[in-house]
Amino acid sequence: MIIFENQNDLQLYLQNEGINKKIGFIPTMGALHDGHISLIKESSKKCDLTICSIFINPTQFNNKEDLDKYPKTLEQDILLLKKNECDILYSPEKSDLYLAGEKVTKYNFKNLGDVLEGIYRPNHFNGVATIVEKLLNIVKADYAYFGLKDLQQTMIIKELVRLKKINTKIIGLATVREENGLAKSSRNKLLNLEGKKTASLIYKELLLISSSLQNNDIDSTLIKAKEKLIKNNISIEYLEIIEINSFKISRSINSSKKHAICIAAYVNGVRLIDNLIL
Ligand code: AMP
Repeated sequence: MIIFENQNDLQLYLQNEGINKKIGFIPTMGALHDGHISLIKESSKKCDLTICSIFINPTQFNNKEDLDKYPKTLEQDILLLKKNECDILYSPEKSDLYLAGEKVTKYNFKNLGDVLEGIYRPNHFNGVATIVEKLLNIVKADYAYFGLKDLQQTMIIKELVRLKKINTKIIGLATVREENGLAKSSRNKLLNLEGKKTASLIYKELLLISSSLQNNDIDSTLIKAKEKLIKNNISIEYLEIIEINSFKISRSINSSKKHAICIAAYVNGVRLIDNLIL
């Protein structure tokens, strides 16, 4: 695996070695786990060159404390990427991607940016889209792989590529989970064993909601689910059913459209998100 810390070196390399090759790209913030690896593997299967980036993007964090405590495991990440036959790692410093004092770009993602994560993490998606736009323009991949665990983010990136006419196809891949159902996440590293056990109730509840919806209305189902999670020391930021394409909140299921149950919750002070596509 070749490691680049500088976008110019990476671009120079790709101008020579990337010609007539299908390029797959996986942007990450590191602390890699099987979820990230599933994206790498899919790219390796479909593409001639697989490029992963590791960059903890400061502009998408809502506060410094969250940024400071984000897990950093670069040496382990490099070993894992090598083991999984990633071809190139781009792991820059902030100064390689942002000018001093540079502000995030303000995008208009309409409703997609105004609900759920958009409400609870103001400006988060502007930060995500700013960095992903920069990275996609550097790598110029044929395919970029994103996890459906971050469903709203993946939809935002699809919209970004459409708005900015970026010639990279965005592929969303299924959430990889622990055996107990907990969605794999870099933030799980901040939980102790007990916290992980508690956090596994989130996905179990999403499954229960999904089956309960067959006989009950959305509102009463969600109220009961919230009560149960709160009793188990899980504090909920949102628990909603949305229509996937518009991300509009649903009060009833329209069988001709695709819906998902989306949740953001805190376990022992760690913010977790998950979803279940219905
Ligand atoms: P992050 O490092 O958290 O920014 O994530 C990098 C990419 O990995 C994003 O596209 C995430 O959606 C994806 N990802 C994170 N966790 C998972 C998971 N459990 N399963 C599949 N993809 C994931």
